[in-house]
This record gives sequence, structure tokens and C-alpha cells, in this order.
Amino acid sequence: MLSLRCPYCGVEAEETELAPGGEAHLVRQGPGSSDEDFETYLFLRENPKGVHFERWRHAHGCGKWFHAARCTVTLEVFGTYSAQVSAPPEDILAAIDARRPGWRREGPR
Ligand SMILES: [Zn+2]
Repeated sequence: MLSLRCPYCGVEAEETELAPGGEAHLVRQGPGSSDEDFETYLFLRENPKGVHFERWRHAHGCGKWFHAARCTVTLEVFGTYSAQVSAPPEDILAAIDARRPGWRREGPR
């Protein structure tokens, strides 16, 4: 079972206490964007076999949204962090690099 530590209240929460929110760090597109950019924002998501950045909400706890970096194959969690950032923090990226040498993040969409 997936278990994530909420970065706000510090509780180690099991998956049943959390609500998934999909891919993290999406670049929002709105009025004035091209049809292609808006379609990408609205419908296209990463579905990697490996490292993934996701949004989660501590639904049965403090209720706050946060981000998590984890492996979709092994459920290994590299870290959780605030949802108030537009890119993963350096310490999270370093933790991934240490455990997944050669790993490379795709750019934001
Ligand atoms: Zn919490």
C-alpha cells in the first residue's frame, strides 16, 4: 500500500486517507492560448513507468494539497513537498538522482 507523509501536519498517511489529484506541475493554459496548448493542458498527462510527480490531498487529515515524487512501479516515495511550488525542490531531485542514477525529468508542459 502506498504511504505518504503529509508535509503540512507530518502524519504518515496511508493511501485510503488521501485523495489523488493527478499530475503535478502542469502549466495552466487559458484565454489567449493556442488550441493545441489548451488541448495539451486539458487532456494530455504523463503516465510514466518510473518516477512521477503527483498531487495528493490529505483528505482524512488536515485537508491540504501537497505534491509527492514516487516510483509508479515500486511505490517507492522520494519525498513529499508543498503544493505551493511550480517545480520539485532540489532536495527531492537529489533524492531521486541518488536512488535512480541516470533518471531524467521531462520538462513542464
Ligand atoms: Zn496533513
